[in-house]
Amino acid sequence: METILVLTTTESDGSLAKSAREALHAAKSLCDTLAGSTFVIGLIGETVQAAADSIAACPATKYYGVTGADFSQSRYASDAAAAEAICKAAQATVVIAPGTSRLSRVLPGVAQRLGGRADTHVTGVDGSSGVLSISRWYYRQRMEAQTQRTQRPWVIVVDPGSQTPCECGSGTASVEIVPVTLPESSKRTTVLGIREPAADAQTIRPDAKLLFVTGAGWTKKQADGQTHVPDAEKLILGFLKTARASLGSSKSLVDLGGEGQAVLSFLTHLNQIGQTGSTPRHQKGLSTCCHGEEPHTVGWRFINERRAISLDPNCGWARGKADVLYVADAFAVMTRVNDLLAAKG
Ligand SMILES: Cc1cc2nc3c(=O)[nH]c(=O)nc-3n(C[C@H](O)[C@H](O)[C@H](O)COP(=O)(O)OP(=O)(O)OC[C@H]3O[C@@H](n4cnc5c(N)ncnc54)[C@H](O)[C@@H]3O)c2cc1C
Repeated sequence: METILVLTTTESDGSLAKSAREALHAAKSLCDTLAGSTFVIGLIGETVQAAADSIAACPATKYYGVTGADFSQSRYASDAAAAEAICKAAQATVVIAPGTSRLSRVLPGVAQRLGGRADTHVTGVDGSSGVLSISRWYYRQRMEAQTQRTQRPWVIVVDPGSQTPCECGSGTASVEIVPVTLPESSKRTTVLGIREPAADAQTIRPDAKLLFVTGAGWTKKQADGQTHVPDAEKLILGFLKTARASLGSSKSLVDLGGEGQAVLSFLTHLNQIGQTGSTPRHQKGLSTCCHGEEPHTVGWRFINERRAISLDPNCGWARGKADVLYVADAFAVMTRVNDLLAAKG
């Protein structure tokens, strides 16, 4: 019998992010399977009422909130104090939270303060055997483990994108405000602003249906003996814009930039997919001008439908890494695809 607390922060406009609804869905499913458990919600933010109302139809038995200007922005000292206070007020034995950058950096410390334990990057919670267990991937997403703990409270930080978001409807929620008085020493850090790329320069879109991956082939000499990097840039950006896809890259291509060679100007190491890069989650993936080597394709673990375009019929994709391989010139294929998308409007 557990007291399950879903702990999350509200957005700057007072709403709840999709990742918070995913944590809520995981907690709700867990509560359904663990007999005798209760399920409560804790919200941190400048205001929390609108967020609580937006999910008021969910079966949570209680809402807790820590509110005020001091809790509007990400800051370790204030976020940790708020999270600790809510966990204590709720007497939570299990805390489920979305793995946002704001909560991920705070919650392991909160678990320590409460004498509990924390697990991050969790991709599943299950109580069907009558005992709570979590799933988590190890060794760059190659092995999946299921873990149980006896220590409580157990803080479980869930990877965004790994759960279905709950569709609890709105209503009117009664929120119990938990008072937190911060000492001056907890207010020393001030967020002056957020620097981020312009919206059209943003190429990493975790919510996109499609991951479009570029490889070093885009910068290699082509059949005419010349490189065509400006054409490559135009084709790739044109496709990203119309398909609203997220952009990934092979390591070779992003490394070329560091070596001073001609590369696609909008790529950074943040775009790199693979063993030393990221492991994004998307419904579909299309790889272009990339060889499909193991250290790269291991980053495709959570792409459900994989396709690739390469000139090499013996590339890694052809050896079982892709569902469909087009042995073709990616310049020609993407020109045609962009034309078709433009015609479709
Ligand atoms: C410890 C370690 C960790 C690594 N981690 C990563 C990682 O995280 N991510 C990663 O990506 N790599 C990683 N690598 C590197 C990886 O092994 C490969 O070297 C790299 O992925 C190759 O990149 P690529 O396929 O873009 O380039 P290449 O191997 O140069 O392949 C280019 C491909 O483009 C094709 N091509 C050329 N022109 C065209 C055209 N017009 N149309 C279609 N196809 C065309 C060619 O046929 C070729 O197959 C790692 C390596 C090591 C040793």
